[in-house]
Amino acid sequence: PVRVRFAPSPTGPLHIGGVRTALFNYLFAKKNNGVFYLRIEDTDQNRFVPGAEAYIFEALEWLGIAPSETVGKNEKFGPYRQSERKHLYKQYADQLVNSGWAYYAFDTAEALDMHRKQHEEQGKTFIYNWHNREKLDTSLVLSAVETEKRIADGDAYVIRFKTPVNETLHLHDIIRGDLKFETNLLDDKVLFKSDGMPTYHLANIVDDHLMETSHVIRGEEWLPSLPLHHLLYKAFGWEAPEFAHLPLILKPIGNGKLSKRDGDKMGFPVFPLEWKSEEGISSGYREKGFFPEAVINFLALLGWNDGTEQELFSLEELANKFDLNRVHKAGAKFDPEKNKWFNHQYLQKQSNETLAKAFAPILSEKGITVENDKLITIVSLIKERANFVSEFWDLADYFFVAPTAYDEKAAKNWKEETPSLMQELTSVLENISDFTSAHIETVVKDWMTNNEIGMGKVMQPFRLSLVGALKGPHLFDIAELIGKEETITRLEKAIA
Ligand code: GLU
Repeated sequence: PVRVRFAPSPTGPLHIGGVRTALFNYLFAKKNNGVFYLRIEDTDQNRFVPGAEAYIFEALEWLGIAPSETVGKNEKFGPYRQSERKHLYKQYADQLVNSGWAYYAFDTAEALDMHRKQHEEQGKTFIYNWHNREKLDTSLVLSAVETEKRIADGDAYVIRFKTPVNETLHLHDIIRGDLKFETNLLDDKVLFKSDGMPTYHLANIVDDHLMETSHVIRGEEWLPSLPLHHLLYKAFGWEAPEFAHLPLILKPIGNGKLSKRDGDKMGFPVFPLEWKSEEGISSGYREKGFFPEAVINFLALLGWNDGTEQELFSLEELANKFDLNRVHKAGAKFDPEKNKWFNHQYLQKQSNETLAKAFAPILSEKGITVENDKLITIVSLIKERANFVSEFWDLADYFFVAPTAYDEKAAKNWKEETPSLMQELTSVLENISDFTSAHIETVVKDWMTNNEIGMGKVMQPFRLSLVGALKGPHLFDIAELIGKEETITRLEKAIA
């Protein structure tokens, strides 16, 4: 059975790359009738950030891709927080020491620094591995008795993995295909620290095994850990899950990985939800007015497509179509303009009732009250020009308040004869009792035809009077909505 996991470390807000990883795991699980679970990897206590864990759960909930097993939810393989599994890991580290796959190392920070410096002086990099094992302070050179004694004396130690020498590993990744790694280039990573905490590598492998993970789907930045992880499974005698490393998400312009700074610089969020910290506020998709469905949709296409030209997918459709074999190797460029386009598409899909409800608080903040039916109509007229609900006010302000200024360029069409034409138009409108769009249109057009007045001569200044610019939907719809009295008031104001 398929069991996949998202394993974030709560070291800050979940960025968009992390969300994409969660999404691809979610989709893969759904597609294969499997389980998507979430494990909190919080063994590095120095990097713990309060609020980050709650943020992760809230973000996934908002996006509609919450895990089906996690902290406080179907804890079949719990606990799902590594800090609460602390007691589990030591025995596995011991097991590797006893089977010769790992060893104790007592080197102090100063000693390691010295080794690094000495290497640098000779123009080399210090790698903690077979190159220099005999010179280091480890149980590989100490006798068993000495090792025991130093541990008993309370000397600080770590347990390191003993990477095999002179092996070529032939590994497979679902996205990247066959891969080759030379073990001689790997360092002996720390698995366990004397503070009683495992490192990421040990805890991650032990938990993926105990939680019966079938596939590890994660970001490309973890690819260098693949050989070690493979060797750890081998050392434990466990069957390894399959691996899939997702492509990087690249900056919109130039090369390199998308960073928080790109977002700040160019004014788009790289976080699902707003995040406040001492360093300031980072904007979130939710607070910027993105629909969660739009965020899901554009993230799904960062590194994946279904092989057709289709761009709009519901979460359900994605879950039916998702295929790890169609994930690209190459990095995926992040395109903020395209993200807005997606939001535009999802905004059009919302009902006018829903959009009116979202617009209402913006209006009441300005002290404006409108009947619901009217607001629904207004929203239906302007929504096709909007990417976000927050743009509604600028697109629709003239429905609620008379223009206070007239667009300068458009005002150039205000000719000598215009005031008298507008005056005549005002009288025509005054006589209309059924002030509805279609009826006003008929009456005004008849008047123009009968008097041989050109369309442009009337319609442009008429629009300018009501809207303040040459923009907006059908003019007679606007007139109906603001009402006869207001229409005439605005025309008189423009003439004066
Ligand atoms: N805790 C790791 C992270 O923060 C998990 C990496 C993995 O999925 O193996 O991304």
